[in-house]
Amino acid sequence: MEEKREESIINKVAIVTGGSRGIGSEIVRMLAGKNYEVVLNYNKSEAAAKKIQQELLGKGKKIEIFKADVSKRKEVKNLIKFTLDKFYKIDVLINNAGIAQEKLFTEISDNDWNKMIETNLNSVFYCTQEVLPTMIKRQKGCIINISSIWGITGGSCEVAYSTTKSAINGLTKALAKELGPSHIRINSIAPGIIDTEMNKNLTKQDLEDIKNEIPLERIGKPEDIAKCISWLVEDSYTTGQIISVNGGWYM
Ligand code: NAP
Repeated sequence: MEEKREESIINKVAIVTGGSRGIGSEIVRMLAGKNYEVVLNYNKSEAAAKKIQQELLGKGKKIEIFKADVSKRKEVKNLIKFTLDKFYKIDVLINNAGIAQEKLFTEISDNDWNKMIETNLNSVFYCTQEVLPTMIKRQKGCIINISSIWGITGGSCEVAYSTTKSAINGLTKALAKELGPSHIRINSIAPGIIDTEMNKNLTKQDLEDIKNEIPLERIGKPEDIAKCISWLVEDSYTTGQIISVNGGWYM
């Protein structure tokens, strides 16, 4: 029965967590542009999610939106079940949802710390674990985690954030070894600075100073990350890598 259903879906199916805004919304547009059938996950930004859905439906694309707080196992289970009920299979999982917080390490509360770990790290654990049974059964799949430059270099006043992104990089490498024999690839993309609401607290001068440190002399755009994903989902021999997309900010 499942094989029959699968045959009826010619296009590949992708889930993008945190697809309502910023980098995630551009990943959704890119995948839909490649005729992927996409489930856009959102948590708080329902209006934004609906707007992207309307935009893509208007272009004849197949897109569903689904509200789930990916820091909660139960809601992740619902997201995966919804996707399989609608599209019968999952080819690609993009673990993109994330939050940031700037604070001195000495001022991080237990609550701050736990929220960061739950949202940025546990979400990757839950989403990846919940999609794996269907991917392992089909012996194929591609998982991409959105990490960060701070997961490699460490970011001052972003210790909790850097910790989660560094942990994602460790998870990516270890799990790639485990999943290789099942023909499932898992990689991380580590963006530098990208123009999204996540950086809304930075002043014009902050952005100018950062730009001056970047060899390519510009702040990144969500499309820069989407382009890397466009290549990575089609690739077949890259796994366990932390791919920096940062304009040369860190080499
Ligand atoms: P953004 O504009 O603030 O968007 C964050 C997205 O994550 C939103 O769609 C939000 O959805 C979603 N999200 C947050 N918590 C969630 C939860 N519990 N459950 C489901 N979705 C949740 O940020 P962005 O810049 O696009 O960041 C996307 C990813 O790139 C993050 O992992 C971030 O760490 C990483 N990154 C960003 C930069 C940068 O400079 N912007 C650099 C390196 C890495 P709702 O609004 O619907 O709640």
